[in-house]
This record gives sequence, C-alpha cells and structure tokens, in this order.
Amino acid sequence: MKKLLFVAITFMAVSMTAQTTLIKNVNIFDGESKELSMGQDVLIEKNLIKEIGQNLKAPKEATVIDGGGRTLTPGFHDMHTHVALFRNVTDSRNNLDLLYTGALAAARLEGMLMNGFTTIMDVGGPAKFAQKLVDEGIYKGPRIYPSEALVTQTSGHGDFRNPNDIHPNLVGSSTHPWDSQFACIADGETEVRRCVRQNLRRGATQIKIMAGGGVSSQFDPLHSKQSSPAETRAAVEAASSWGTFVAAHAYTDRSVKEAVENGVKYIIHAPMITKETAGLMAEKNVYMGATLSPVFSVPKDALKSMLSPASYNKFLQVYETYPDAMRAAVNEGVTLVFGTDILATPATTIEMDDSANQEFVQLTKYMSNAEALITATGNAHKLIGEMGPNNPYYEGPTGVIKVGAYADLIVIDGNPLEDINLLTTPDETFDVIMKDGVIYKNTLNE
Ligand SMILES: [Zn+2]
Repeated sequence: MKKLLFVAITFMAVSMTAQTTLIKNVNIFDGESKELSMGQDVLIEKNLIKEIGQNLKAPKEATVIDGGGRTLTPGFHDMHTHVALFRNVTDSRNNLDLLYTGALAAARLEGMLMNGFTTIMDVGGPAKFAQKLVDEGIYKGPRIYPSEALVTQTSGHGDFRNPNDIHPNLVGSSTHPWDSQFACIADGETEVRRCVRQNLRRGATQIKIMAGGGVSSQFDPLHSKQSSPAETRAAVEAASSWGTFVAAHAYTDRSVKEAVENGVKYIIHAPMITKETAGLMAEKNVYMGATLSPVFSVPKDALKSMLSPASYNKFLQVYETYPDAMRAAVNEGVTLVFGTDILATPATTIEMDDSANQEFVQLTKYMSNAEALITATGNAHKLIGEMGPNNPYYEGPTGVIKVGAYADLIVIDGNPLEDINLLTTPDETFDVIMKDGVIYKNTLNE
C-alpha cells in the first residue's frame, strides 16, 4: 500500500514538472499584434519561452510537437471570476457548508484550465486557498490573482445578509466566516482601510470594492451609488501602500465616474457609461472589464425564471444600455479586459464554466476577433502589471508570447482571427494547452 502511494506521488510530481518542449510550425498570435506571425517555432525551457524563430533545432531532451500550421496564442485570462461564490449568494452565506464551498470551488479549476484559461483574476470571495492548491500542484488549474473579501458598504452590493441578520459591527464583532472571508462590510474610511488591509494580509493581489448597485442583490437598488469619494480614496490609498490597485463594481455612469475620479484602476461591468465617462477612463488609463455573456448569452426567459421580478427589471435596463456603453468604450479607446463573472448554482457551476468562452463571441459585436483576443491576453497582461510587486508570478509576463514570458499557451486548430467560434469549442479545437511549461493537453503527438 505504502509503495503504491509512493509511485502515485512520484508520477504526479513528474507529470507536473515543466520540461523542454519545441513546438514547430505554428502561426503565432502574440497577444499584442493584430496580425499572426506565420510559420514559427517556439522553444520552451522549463517554464519560460526560451526562443522563437524559424527552423529552431530541437535540444536532445526536448518533446517535439508539430503544430502543422495551427495557431499558437497566449493562454487566456479571465479577469472576472468568483471561484467560491455560488447562487443564490445569500443562501450560500447562510446555508452552504464552508468545506463544501471550498471543495466545489477547487473542482472548477481544472475545467477553467481546459477551456484555455491559464490565468484568472478572482474579484471577490476567498480564492487564496485555491491559488495555493494550484501552485502546490495539488489541483490542476489556472494561475489565480485573489482579491479575497469584497469591500462593501452597509446595504451595498456585497452585503448579502438576511433582513433579520444583525449588523456585524453594531454588536461588537461578527463570528460569521462570511464577514471576513467573502464580504467585508465597511462604512467610513477607517473601516474601509481595515478591510483592505485584512485582505492584503490574507494574500489579496488587488482589492475589489462595490461602488454602486447591481442586478442580483436584494438591498441595493441599481441607481444607488456606493462607497463615498473619501471611502474610495481610503481603499485606493491602502492598496497603493502595498503597490497595488483597486477594482470597482459599478453600473451607472455616476458610480463609474466617481470611482474613476477617486483613483480606481479597474472598472467592472460599466453597462451605463456615457461617451464622456468613457473618455475620462481612457484619459486616466482605467481598465474596463465588460461582462457581456451573463447579459446577452442567456435567453431572457431563462433569466426571468432565475431572477426576482425586481432583479429582472434591473436586468432589462442593463440589456438596453450595454450596447451603447460598449460602443462608447471602444470608440473612446478604453482598454478592455476579458471577464465572465460566472455565478451559478452549486449543481450547475461546472457546466456554466464551459460557457466562459462565449464572451469572445459577444465581444466581437463591438471589435475585431484580434481585439477580442487581446482583451484576454495582452490587455490582461497590462492590468496585471498594475499590481506591481504583489504579483506572485514574477519570473516573466503572461498573456504575451515573447522570449522570457511564461510558457502559458494554447495551440488552436484553425485561425481564430478568421473564425471566433473556434474559441467556443475548446474540447475539439484546442490541441495543446500548456501552463508554466507543463503540457496539460496535447492531441498532436500520439
Ligand atoms: Zn462579479
């Protein structure tokens, strides 16, 4: 029995170790240029890209993969996930066992990787534990940038308490695990700073605040603006003391504008912004993470049955305004990053994760295929740059194919610059998936 265990552990260690790989004859989409670089070879040594060029010689020990003229892209980045949040969120808070929640979150990770996402940014809820499980090689999954607990005002979009729940800060201090790990309720600059610092202590690489109302929550109307200017500045200041940035959930033009004016670097959703606010975002180099597929990829009828009447009405407003907001963002030159914000029930979450790649198709209503791909690669790489020394993956960049970058990449059967739908069928069309130099999928040499 002991011997068997030893063999199993050894096998796992070997299979998770990066080796030398030469991928021959691929057309490279490098994450920054809108053109492919044709007929290239890519040499990977350990976990980094060592050389790119034509007719590269294979070192003796190398695994050689013939790309056969397929497309090689950087691994994708989903910059809006919540690995440990499930619908209905209030119900999760009150009834879901924490070990069950963590196990369910961990079970999602391999599927994300096999859909081509080699990096995710988790923008609220515990994710440091998942990052640890992946980095220690216990679970297969993407690189993870955790925000840890959402920072929300009382009755803000992250205040998921039941109507009868006592306020955590009005009765001394709360012992409910949600109040420190999932959503930190903070009013006033001091409380905001405390929540931000607590998240940084837990290993957050960036901070997420709630700056306005949302669709799914019960106690914050869509029109509500949340986090006062002073509170937002307190969050930004506390985050910047650690060299990192603040992301904000914001829907209305007013909430986006105020968050941007007070130092937020990454605006999430933004379905109601005007041309002027989009212009301000571009001028201040603020990133926008649109989440189109939750709004446009789910049939309206299905949403009607899932949402309360109040939430459904909020959804209809967003459905109306989002296309104009997207056009304004693109026209004004806002840097867009790819995000899916998948929030499903425990029973459907693994299946729903497979819909993440639909976001590419939604994005191409407003931009070219190459630009949609750049949101999930080169632009994500730039946003990661904003977290400075807090980036635990510091050996090289991700999201780009260049010498010295992490070997996080996909080989796709076909050209996604011509057919975006190739990205929605990863099981069939992604022939190689590599992260950190480790081959997780390879259908090309059998
Ligand atoms: Zn979200």
